[in-house]
Amino acid sequence: MKEKLTHPVFKIIGECADEMGIPAYVIGGWVRDLILHRPCKDIDIVAIGSGIELAEMVAKRLGNQYHVNLYKNFGTAQIVYEDYDIEFVGARKESYRSESRKPIVENGTLEDDQNRRDFTINALAISLNEKTYGELLDPFYGYKDMEDQIIRTPLAPDVTYSDDPLRMMRAIRFATQLDYVIEEESLKSITRNKERITIISKERIADELNKIILAKKPSIGFKLLFDTGLLHIIFPQMVLLQGVEIINGKGHKDNFYHTLEVLDNICKTTDDLWLRWAAILHDIAKPQTKRFEKEHGWTFHGHEDKGSRMVPKIFAELKLPLNEKMKYVQKLVLLHLRPIVLAKSEVTDSAIRRLLFEAGDDIDDLMKLCEADITSKNEYKVQKYLKNFELVREKLKEVEEKDNIRNWQPPVTGEDIMKTFNIPASREVGIIKNAIREAILDGVIPNEYQKAYEFMVEMGKELGLKN
Ligand code: ATP
Repeated sequence: MKEKLTHPVFKIIGECADEMGIPAYVIGGWVRDLILHRPCKDIDIVAIGSGIELAEMVAKRLGNQYHVNLYKNFGTAQIVYEDYDIEFVGARKESYRSESRKPIVENGTLEDDQNRRDFTINALAISLNEKTYGELLDPFYGYKDMEDQIIRTPLAPDVTYSDDPLRMMRAIRFATQLDYVIEEESLKSITRNKERITIISKERIADELNKIILAKKPSIGFKLLFDTGLLHIIFPQMVLLQGVEIINGKGHKDNFYHTLEVLDNICKTTDDLWLRWAAILHDIAKPQTKRFEKEHGWTFHGHEDKGSRMVPKIFAELKLPLNEKMKYVQKLVLLHLRPIVLAKSEVTDSAIRRLLFEAGDDIDDLMKLCEADITSKNEYKVQKYLKNFELVREKLKEVEEKDNIRNWQPPVTGEDIMKTFNIPASREVGIIKNAIREAILDGVIPNEYQKAYEFMVEMGKELGLKN
């Protein structure tokens, strides 16, 4: 079978390999994505000989502006060409010890190199030498597995997963990205070997988890993580969402599956990783705030506030960044019920102003989250709620145009207050500043300098200050 390698760089690599008298192949993810018609920018070249020497020769042939980055520890060499990242390596044979995912590496044959790959679909190679150019080497029938949409390991699954437990996350990640099924023995093996995930660094796990979250339908991955028991180890807070309790014949919804629905919903309107994380975490404190009240049934009072406060610890444990992205997720979790309240009751301008003030530029993302949060099976209800949110959006727009409250700062500053009353930075300055802000948000005074100034003078008098 021949695969079409249209890019001229492959011919050049083949010519160099021929001149050196060694076989060379393009292998792994690039071949997989070529067959699946997925875009791919990482090209892995394996040489049966020195990958570094081959890279140096190829760079020379490509022109003066190209140079080789050497990673001597790994025996690899890289050329950045156009927007491709081409990596060269000599074929390897790997053997593993139980306590580490770092293998002992020796030079090997192409077969050795294919054996060390994680999945059959990632083990395909295409020859680049002139005589065999384009020939597909597929010892584990990866091509057929792509047709059948199956994730399968080249060796016995227990060996593959135990050698490098990150592959368990990778299996689930590929199954999610490609919407493939993990072959039965493989799935059982992941369940058996799940504890081995603890030898993998949290950063690598987070990397795979984020790739699952960025897929078109992340629920596929989360269900697999849950069913295999991996989620219990890597993200136990999410597992607590699962289950339904029934008291006096009244049950609440299963918040794990609800969260997954919200996540899949929001993926239709955003590619942003952090908005997707906000969807994952929006109800995270429901298990901790759950109460059964005789008059109302199940309640989760304050789950948005507690959930928002749980975010930093979860981010720290998962080794996600503790920066403004985390604060953004916290904010959305905290505010996720607010538009619902506005949709239900008579909406006052001041309630809208307050939400605009608190959400700032994230108001559109918050509305997306709320719309994704509608997971009723009753289509009539879904349409009704969506319509209500449409009204909230209109009202937001109206108030924003009128009052310009998004990213707003009150017209009278702390500086103005200090100057007017000739006082240093103090508690009184804070009190007056807050009072002005609240008065404007509540619509007691308009958002204008003169009115705010007069209000400030009044407040100062009440506090016994002189201007
Ligand atoms: P993506 O580019 O979508 O992140 P990928 O698997 O194509 O995924 P890499 O992670 O760069 O990209 O891996 C390139 C190739 O290296 C894979 O196709 C696979 O053959 C091999 N590989 C990567 N990680 C492992 C692993 N943990 N165990 C075995 N083989 C691996």
